[in-house]
Amino acid sequence: MILAELATGEKAVIVRVNGHGSFRKRLIEMGFIQGKEVRVVLNAPLKDPIEYEIIGYKVSLRREEAKMIEVVSMEEAREALSTDEHLQGLPETLEEKERLDRALAHVAEERHHNIRVALVGNPNCGKTSLFNIASGAHEHVGNYSGVTVDAKEGHFTYKGYDITLVDLPGTYSLSAYSPEELYVRKNLLETLPDVVLNVVDASNIERNLYLTSQLIDMNLRTVMALNMYDELQHKGDKLDIKQLGYLLGMPVCPTVSRDGQGIPELFDTIIKVYEHTDPKLARHIHINHGAELEKSIVRLRDLIFANENIRSRYSTRYLAIKTLEADKDVEALIAQLPNAAEIQAACQEENTRIEALLGTSAESAIVDAKYAFIQGALAETYERYQAEKPRRTLTDKIDAFVTNQWLAFPIFILLLWFIFWATFTVGQYPMDWIDALVSWLGDKVGGWMADGWVKDLVVDGIIAGVGSVLVFLPNIMILYFFISIMEDSGYMARAAFIVDKLMHRIGLHGKSFIPMVMGFGCNVPAIMATRSIESRKSRLVTIAIIPFMSCAGRLPIFVLFAGAFFPGSPATALLGIYLLGVVLAILSALVLSKFVKDDDLPFVMELPPYRVPTGKAIWRHTWEKGRQYLEKMATTILLFSIAIWFLGYFPRHEGASAAYQQEHSYIGMVGKAVEPAMEPLGFNWKMDVGLLAGVGAKELVISTMGVTYAQDGAAYADDSDDTALQAALKATIPTAAALAFMVFVLLYFPCIATFTAIKNETGKWRWAILLCLYTIVVAWLFAFAAYRLGLLFWPVG
Ligand code: GDP
Ligand code: MG
Repeated sequence: MILAELATGEKAVIVRVNGHGSFRKRLIEMGFIQGKEVRVVLNAPLKDPIEYEIIGYKVSLRREEAKMIEVVSMEEAREALSTDEHLQGLPETLEEKERLDRALAHVAEERHHNIRVALVGNPNCGKTSLFNIASGAHEHVGNYSGVTVDAKEGHFTYKGYDITLVDLPGTYSLSAYSPEELYVRKNLLETLPDVVLNVVDASNIERNLYLTSQLIDMNLRTVMALNMYDELQHKGDKLDIKQLGYLLGMPVCPTVSRDGQGIPELFDTIIKVYEHTDPKLARHIHINHGAELEKSIVRLRDLIFANENIRSRYSTRYLAIKTLEADKDVEALIAQLPNAAEIQAACQEENTRIEALLGTSAESAIVDAKYAFIQGALAETYERYQAEKPRRTLTDKIDAFVTNQWLAFPIFILLLWFIFWATFTVGQYPMDWIDALVSWLGDKVGGWMADGWVKDLVVDGIIAGVGSVLVFLPNIMILYFFISIMEDSGYMARAAFIVDKLMHRIGLHGKSFIPMVMGFGCNVPAIMATRSIESRKSRLVTIAIIPFMSCAGRLPIFVLFAGAFFPGSPATALLGIYLLGVVLAILSALVLSKFVKDDDLPFVMELPPYRVPTGKAIWRHTWEKGRQYLEKMATTILLFSIAIWFLGYFPRHEGASAAYQQEHSYIGMVGKAVEPAMEPLGFNWKMDVGLLAGVGAKELVISTMGVTYAQDGAAYADDSDDTALQAALKATIPTAAALAFMVFVLLYFPCIATFTAIKNETGKWRWAILLCLYTIVVAWLFAFAAYRLGLLFWPVG
């Protein structure tokens, strides 16, 4: 009996909850668990929702939801009492009520032990053979497709379970093209099997997994029989079955249905999945269709999700994907919804958008994404025996080259080098233009205004502040221009794949690598690029370690200091600093991944076919990032820039020298106030002021110290190659302290733009603040160590 049919006041015991995974999960969380008693509080014929009481709580379910729950009613229990032999054996002394309760529980238990298993697979994958060998039937087995025209049912008992096997027609996909495909799909969605048994021909695995990818979308309880396993072994191929199961989110059991190998284990697994005894065995995964398609899917899913009555029977994500694919059957279903017009209009829009961006229809883009997913999963688990030369597509040929074990890394590094060169060398031109424009504007505006603090605020605070935001825009856009090309052409997926193993050693994923490397250029776009990492944990850890990658803004400081203090080997000093950053990034990744909550389920790294990216998509991605940068960061960066200007400008000491002004400004005061804390590192207050200014941007460290040391500079200038500032630094700072200063600059608070980026990408101020504190603590500790160590080599005095 179905729960929805139960009348007010009646009670029943739950046998099973049907439907797709997330619906079932929600109901189980509400308490609708097999064997539990449920009572109808109010079920009026036209009333929706219906009110129930379960494990002492009142809950209401929509009628459509209650239709998905199978129960045993009192009436059925009464009937069983008079017919069931087992129940007739109950002692006469038992009260009527007790007898009924026992009957109820008994029937529910018995029915729960009936499992319906639907066999789904490509033609000729061995479904009927499996069906025959498991059920003892003698259906006709043939080595050509189309032998099974409709569903055949077979029954057998196994370990106390009555298993009903349904042999469905073979299909390559679950699109609504052929009658067989429609038939299989209707069967899965309407007769609601408890477990779907996906039979896969192991000797033809890639093509077979396409159907599997569609089953994954439907979010049904699925177990895979990796049939014809004998043929795979015979060919000498190797497959990591366990890992494949992990990646697909379903248990995979090797079988040979011709002789019955693996069949008992297969049904053991089916029972385990049905009873949910091992939650690790199956999980629901989302196949990643790529950023653009996912946007469309999420938009349609949200619209479909608004229809409560449809949610219990279908996974809304599945319906969204099918709508986007213009699936006739699902379109008809959508047409009946109250917000059909809205969904259809959105679908139209998304289709046009995808077509313009990707240059193909949404439907074929979805197919491609599914194959990319399969390619990725197999690349990680499948090793083909190299006897036969398989047919090679263009993608295979390019892959043979770019993922070649000797060439992969050189190609990758060359590409990265080129992108960096383009970003920072070519990017220097627009940067200079913007710089010139900003100072021209400053001069112009300054000329119009009367002297005074308002003018200084506008010129040095606001205009210079806006300039410091704009100046990064070309870098960010150029970098993203190349990243989009790498991404859309399909190369990025390979790059991530190449470094994946390496990155796993530090608890990260291949996709973390690109952002880390980008960090050497500028931490801001690097942090923005972490968005492509699916795993939350990897994303957070990657964001956390990017600030240790020494950005271009820090380079001038190192060059200045290395030149002044290590004239014999400035390059070694520089390299040492960069290496220290990398080592600390790695160590931090190892440590932090222990603390971040683990969601680190394996996921498939998609391997899409290579494709020439469309200009439109590239432009859109590039502009998107530029806009994001301007919109989300500009205000914060500007505010902080003005704040730093303010701290250096006030209180005013009119007529005093710039150095005097700085010493007696707020920032100078703070610098002096923190002096005791920095003394163990060998820093003087002038260095502290430089570091404080560096909070705004690392570029400011030197210009600020230039001001504080301005007078000293002249005094110490000698006739060596050193600049006046270098001479002054050398005269006043011990070498060990200079070393500590370089270490501190490398590690401490990245800069306001990066801080803002961290806040934006993690969505939490808490994270940004915590991370910055972490960097400061690490910086202090390492600078201290560097100072102490340095003193051994370069004692003071
Ligand atoms: P269906 O179309 O999926 O129902 O596939 P059939 O059960 O009709 O099997 C197709 C062909 O594959 C038949 O010739 C079977 O004998 C053969 N076959 C089925 N399972 C296996 C297996 O595990 N290993 C091998 N080598 N052949 C199998
Ligand atoms: Mg068959």
